[in-house]
Amino acid sequence: MRETAYCYHCGRHHPIAEMRRVRLKSGVRWRCLRSIEATRAAPAQREAFGQRMTALNRALADERRNAPQPGCLRETAVPGTALEARLAGELGLRR
Ligand SMILES: [Zn+2]
Repeated sequence: MRETAYCYHCGRHHPIAEMRRVRLKSGVRWRCLRSIEATRAAPAQREAFGQRMTALNRALADERRNAPQPGCLRETAVPGTALEARLAGELGLRR
């Protein structure tokens, strides 16, 4: 019969060969290697995600800074004005 121990992380028993004793505030407990590896990988994954989000936000901010503001364009493109006519021409909407 294989020796098992109660894994405090999963709340069930695993073979001791797949487990480690870990020291907690409440004392020494058994925890499986799989859950230890899973939580070790988590901060790295969170960091990678955070870096992707930062890069995306930076790219979006750059785009907004460099691109003409669509809101401003619409406000100034009053019907019947030269600007409106020019815009309509550029957009292929000349009547
Ligand atoms: Zn476990």
